[in-house]
Amino acid sequence: MSAANSKAIFWLRRDLRIHDNPALHVALKSGATEAIFISTPKQWHDHHLAPIQADFIQRHLVALAQELLEIGVKLIHLTATDYDAQRETLSRYCLQHSISTVFANREPEINEIERDSKLQHAPFELKLFSCDTILPVGSVLNKQGQMFKVFTPFKNAWLKRLQLTGIGLVQTLSDSHHKRAAMEKRTDNGTPIEFDYPTRDSSQWPLASQVMQHVVPQFLETKLDDYALKRDYPGIKGTSGLSPYLAIGAISPRLLAIQLVQHQPNILSDTSAKGFAWFNELIWRDFYKHLLFHFPNLAKGDCFQARYQHIAWQHNHAHFVAWCEGRTGYPLVDAAMKQLVNTGWMHNRLRMVVASFLTKHLLVDWRLGERFFMSQLIDGDLSANNGGWQWAASTGCDAQPYFRVFNPILQSKKFDPNGEFIRKYLPELKNVPDKHIHFPHVYLELHENRDLYCAPIVDHKDARQRAIELFKQHNLNTS
Ligand code: FAD
Repeated sequence: MSAANSKAIFWLRRDLRIHDNPALHVALKSGATEAIFISTPKQWHDHHLAPIQADFIQRHLVALAQELLEIGVKLIHLTATDYDAQRETLSRYCLQHSISTVFANREPEINEIERDSKLQHAPFELKLFSCDTILPVGSVLNKQGQMFKVFTPFKNAWLKRLQLTGIGLVQTLSDSHHKRAAMEKRTDNGTPIEFDYPTRDSSQWPLASQVMQHVVPQFLETKLDDYALKRDYPGIKGTSGLSPYLAIGAISPRLLAIQLVQHQPNILSDTSAKGFAWFNELIWRDFYKHLLFHFPNLAKGDCFQARYQHIAWQHNHAHFVAWCEGRTGYPLVDAAMKQLVNTGWMHNRLRMVVASFLTKHLLVDWRLGERFFMSQLIDGDLSANNGGWQWAASTGCDAQPYFRVFNPILQSKKFDPNGEFIRKYLPELKNVPDKHIHFPHVYLELHENRDLYCAPIVDHKDARQRAIELFKQHNLNTS
């Protein structure tokens, strides 16, 4: 095909944005006038995509179609069942429309990497870029040229590297492109964006464009300084709430990092700077993505610490269901699970508490919890979810030691002292006094109101001991 009639297209995946989008940028420079999104309902089902995240993606695509149109790009939406069918659909489309180059941003998960590598034999050239992390995966290594296995040295090396390289934000579009697009403004609207997949209303979460305009500046101005103090209290809105946008690529982590540095210039060199605690969380996000790049089998359920691959988790289905439904008899755990199921999001402190409860108190395999989270979360993200679950289960990289078992009653007293969060999600406990709210069973018994709330499904002390014994015994057997 001659250069004159060769065409390019931009393939949207988990990078649902115009800003800081290297593949889009280069595609536009190559003259692309179309973008394509190919939904894959069966693949999504296999990956346990939450209906609320599907809706969130759909809403962002609709908005993006409009934004793309304004720069002269038509968004095509096609449906394929899974990644095999997606490759065929894309190849067919490219053949039919004489497209010789497809520009896309890398996705770090194993199935997605396999799909892209199979496209080497496609009737077009696939050009891949990176935009999902602040520093590219694979670029932060120890002296032996390997991925760090502990977070703090990774963070130190990451900060050093960022000081050297700066944050490589991609300029979106040149003025000349805008002018050309305005002159050639398209009027056709592309194809309808409706998924053949269950969706659940996500309209509580505004679109990324509004969040970038209002929420991010407000967070930096009014909440960043107190983030370290307030981030652990689920009854306070002390965190940014940006995870859903980062998870679908609607907001660039690099853009957030740049805005943070502009707001707090010494943040790169001073880890005690105000707001560093928040930056630290963005670095954790990078850490888990880098980890998945180096250890792709984490996506297949492998324990990071291989010795725990076959630990004897119990398969008590009734316990698992009680946990999913918020019926464990531990108010903080139950309120947290109700928050997840009712809203599609859960506060980070509570994710740690409920993940610890499932794996340590109930000895249920962390993979079941990981999957349930994915099926519910609007911010479901394989690397962060896997990292969080393996951290809590003590099987992961730089994980919680196995003998540290969160006490759900003490966690409740510490992080929801007045029971404000508990009462929001367990209104049946609204009249229980503060001092009894964290474990109301004796109080309810005394007031002959036992039926108001379920009995605890395990005793904390016994469960803790059982978990420690299981790990101890396993370590002895495998040493
Ligand atoms: P903020 O506190 O404002 O943090 C800013 C950003 O940093 C977040 O938006 C997120 O992108 C990132 N971040 C924060 N904490 C972490 C962390 N511990 N690990 C990695 N990145 C982090 N996060 C997800 O985005 N998707 C998931 O599927 C997910 N599953 C988790 C499962 C478990 C068991 C645990 C313990 C944590 C999980 N997290 C997950 C991490 C964390 O709970 C959420 O990112 C955070 O609660 C999002 O709220 P926020 O945007 O207000 O975060």
